[in-house]
Amino acid sequence: MSAVLPSAVVSLINELRKLPGVGEKTATRYVLNLMLRGPEGVEALSEALASVSAQVTPCRECGFLADGELCVLCLDELRDPSVICVIEGIADLVSFEKIGEFRGRYHILGGAISALRGIGPDKLRIAELVNRVKAGGIKEVIVATSADAEGETTALYIRKTLEPYGVRVTRPATGIPMGSSIEFLDAVTLMRALKGRKEL
Ligand SMILES: [Zn+2]
Repeated sequence: MSAVLPSAVVSLINELRKLPGVGEKTATRYVLNLMLRGPEGVEALSEALASVSAQVTPCRECGFLADGELCVLCLDELRDPSVICVIEGIADLVSFEKIGEFRGRYHILGGAISALRGIGPDKLRIAELVNRVKAGGIKEVIVATSADAEGETTALYIRKTLEPYGVRVTRPATGIPMGSSIEFLDAVTLMRALKGRKEL
């Protein structure tokens, strides 16, 4: 198929294929559909992509997507600033927000500690977390990293790192099946896990 398509079209297909769940067939279908919409359709998408790239930056505080220094969640004064939920990625935050049960603040690490993949604590936003705790006013840090070896290692590292600051460090324990990533948990399981959190 791609042999007969113009190279610009092939490049776009290849970019889309980098997205999760998008294979060559789907990517080709997306691009051909865009072409059908004509120049306006393509330009609207192109402008939307350019705006994301130009305007959206990581929140200075939690690492979530923001269109200023701070994200909407960090700016929301109705959320409890004394509880921080630590998660690996943006998708985990979206999962938590979907259930709407957690009314504190977040801290996105940007991954988990992994000896295998050469990810040390210095590659994650752990120093930023320590700074937030050091700044005071935080009573509890819920470490909601994945229930796999890397997530557990990261959770224990965070507990050890935060020990000198006398903050309560908990982990959603109940109901999260071993090996699970937060992102893929259903709402009921995630809510139970959050409610049943224990001291780490
Ligand atoms: Zn934020």
